[in-house]
Amino acid sequence: MDLGLQDKVVIVTGGAKGIGEAISRLIAAEGGIVVIAGRNEADNEKTVSAIRNAGGKASSVQAELGKVEDCKKVIDAAVKEYGRIDALVNNAGANDGVGLESGSPEKFMASLQNNLSHYYNLAHYALPHLKAAKGNIVNIGSKVAATGQGNTSGYAASKGAINALTREWAVELLPFSIRVNTVIPAEVWTPLYETWIQSLPNPEEKLASIVSKIPLEQRMTTSEEIAGMTVFLLSARSSHTTGQIVYVDGGYTHLDRSIS
Ligand code: NAP
Repeated sequence: MDLGLQDKVVIVTGGAKGIGEAISRLIAAEGGIVVIAGRNEADNEKTVSAIRNAGGKASSVQAELGKVEDCKKVIDAAVKEYGRIDALVNNAGANDGVGLESGSPEKFMASLQNNLSHYYNLAHYALPHLKAAKGNIVNIGSKVAATGQGNTSGYAASKGAINALTREWAVELLPFSIRVNTVIPAEVWTPLYETWIQSLPNPEEKLASIVSKIPLEQRMTTSEEIAGMTVFLLSARSSHTTGQIVYVDGGYTHLDRSIS
């Protein structure tokens, strides 16, 4: 199936590691041009090199996405280099453990800045270019918005808002044929996930308990499986799909837990 992504310019935030890296690699494998935006230049360049070595096209912009000016810098750099933006993948985020009791008003606002504001800021600055290209947006959310997790108010609020913005932007952007969708991971082994599980009292026991409750094949979702859905939603093969929140989680969020 030709996804029609040849030479499409796609910005992937947090595209150097974990889920973002898998998305970047798959876009490039489909002939797209990836612009990785992330805070660590060495990580960004490592993934750019890997993509280029595999024959793909990619570049990167160092950006601390919690800063508004860095979001603008990402869009400006992509337009300067390629003259267009066809799609935006808002993916960067971190489950930063700012709880109701353990956090503070300042930490809560900082969590929103790091997990939510840049989704809006990048979409805002990219919009004229997305309009010109009749492009689209895919957000990466989290099952935490639907299930809660405890001790992570900032992250949960951000991911809930991302679901709401998916519907809101899908409506606002109808006149421009710009589609907006969100992919929801639940349990995906990435550097972020490893850090989170290691922060718990009995990490191995906890991991085994989580995995045993994942209905489909009692295994974690792979980053590549998240990337597959994301790239399909980016592509013209999903040209009448908008405002959707798609769970790629082996049934973890919605299926009857008594079956596993
Ligand atoms: P990851 O392994 O930590 O990779 C995320 C990348 O984004 C890292 O390179 C990180 O840089 C960068 N990044 C994060 N926040 C940034 C910021 N404010 N500015 C610039 N760069 C930033 O994370 P992941 O597990 O792949 O998660 C990707 C997305 O999936 C996130 O939105 C997360 O909420 C969501 N998600 C993941 C899971 C899961 O099971 N893994 C489950 C549900 C949702 P540093 O490494 O320098 O921090």
